[in-house]
Amino acid sequence: MPSIATVYLVGAGPGHPGLLTLRAVECLQNADLVLYDRLVSPLLLEHAPASAEKTCVAELAPHHDERIVPIHDAMIAAARAGRRVVRLKGGDPYVFGRGAEEAEILLEAGIPFEIVPGITAALGAAAYAGISLTHRAHTSAVAFVTGHENPHKPDSVLDWSALARFPGTLVIYMGMSRLDRIVPSLLAEGKDPQTPAAVVHCATLGTQRTLVAPLSDLPRRAREEGLSAPALIIIGPVVSLRNELAWFERRPLFGKRVLITRPRQQAGDMIHRLVDLGAVPFVLLAVEIREPADWTPVDQAIQSLRQYDWLVFTSANGVQAFLGRLEHQGLDLRALGNLRLAAIGPKTAEALRAYHLQPDLVPARYQSEDLAAALTTQIKPGQRVLLARADRGRDVLRERLAAICTVEQIAVYAQVDTLEPDEEVMNALRRGEIEFVTLTSSNIARSLLTWFDATCRRRVETGEIKLVTISSVTSDEVRKLGFAVAAEAAQATVDGVIEALIGLV
Ligand code: SAH
Repeated sequence: MPSIATVYLVGAGPGHPGLLTLRAVECLQNADLVLYDRLVSPLLLEHAPASAEKTCVAELAPHHDERIVPIHDAMIAAARAGRRVVRLKGGDPYVFGRGAEEAEILLEAGIPFEIVPGITAALGAAAYAGISLTHRAHTSAVAFVTGHENPHKPDSVLDWSALARFPGTLVIYMGMSRLDRIVPSLLAEGKDPQTPAAVVHCATLGTQRTLVAPLSDLPRRAREEGLSAPALIIIGPVVSLRNELAWFERRPLFGKRVLITRPRQQAGDMIHRLVDLGAVPFVLLAVEIREPADWTPVDQAIQSLRQYDWLVFTSANGVQAFLGRLEHQGLDLRALGNLRLAAIGPKTAEALRAYHLQPDLVPARYQSEDLAAALTTQIKPGQRVLLARADRGRDVLRERLAAICTVEQIAVYAQVDTLEPDEEVMNALRRGEIEFVTLTSSNIARSLLTWFDATCRRRVETGEIKLVTISSVTSDEVRKLGFAVAAEAAQATVDGVIEALIGLV
């Protein structure tokens, strides 16, 4: 019999992938099964191991016995089988999250549990919409209220008269579909119709929308602006502070929908930077990194490292793959003692430094041509260069160096195009829901743009979809495929791409 595992009821925060506690990340990293709410961002699931099963609770099949709740059933069965379950819940598990119900069920079933608090939507909305929930000059109390009572409860559970008199900020969850009833109830009980009020939709995300109006106008204005769930209603004088404090909505890419096409290992960094700038990220993992088809040439080169004078890397992946293989062969950094090291750009250099290796050469610009030019000034005739790179890509570096020295090129990793595009992302492109497409290599550009149908093509022509490339080489590839480039990075880095993107806004 496996021993019973602990179930973790974890708060996932309000949406922004950074608004998660360290404890939540630890739990996810150790999970065998993640049962997540519909509103939880898929980016959070990346913390769980690839081998973990991830199930959205909305997709659990109803049980034939109505008394059995599928979520409870799934948690209990998995924990009894010894699997570590993370029940990932929006916001905080104990704020309108039914966390207590789930904990009670676990208690009854004799299953140990832990509650990991999360940032509840009210706190996320307050910070990101610039509405301080309490304020020494305005308000010393705050109340979290549900606008959506359990229909099985008797009608009068919420005391609207007391809420109307409440001397502080009111935050109403799940109230959008009843806004038309909530506001009149408060006004009828004497709440000042001029009280500043707000609706914050999709707080903390690039899709955040905030409406501010006097309380009595709020239902009409929310209807006019088409604001729907998930949203919070915030009522109180602190709402008027928003004008000065709304920092998030002033971020340069706020609300911009950007497609990121990156290898899985590198996507996270770009996503986080764009999210920080306020963008709404869409992600397509266009190219995968795999082991090379044949390690023999790499192993041979590793066995004869003493014969080389320079070891040249053209990507961070190359550094990781080569040094991983070195270790696999039972060697360590001392095997590189006689070599000088070159890196194509800052990321590659950083990858070397992570192994305590200082590159001897990083060119001022980050393309093969620049690396070749920089190397040719340093390489002496008769020297030997080992070039560790992907199994495909441009040949410029080898060609240029071969003119002055002996070059051995080895494929330390393979780049493989994913066969199937993500239909959801492709549909979003077709529907015109994505304005910017970032292209960070010519391989990626080719694999993505060959999937573009007539609709996507037309959107590029009309400028509804703007292609932003990392370098002139990628731009050339894009044009060769018959598309226009809207902007090109001045520096061939992710930061360069993001700057080019900001330039278009
Ligand atoms: N346990 C959650 C609340 C669940 S109830 C928490 O602590 O936040 C669901 C309600 O939360 C939604 O109807 C909406 O009112 C609110 N909500 C959740 N996420 C939100 C977001 N990103 N922006 C605005 N409101 C949100």
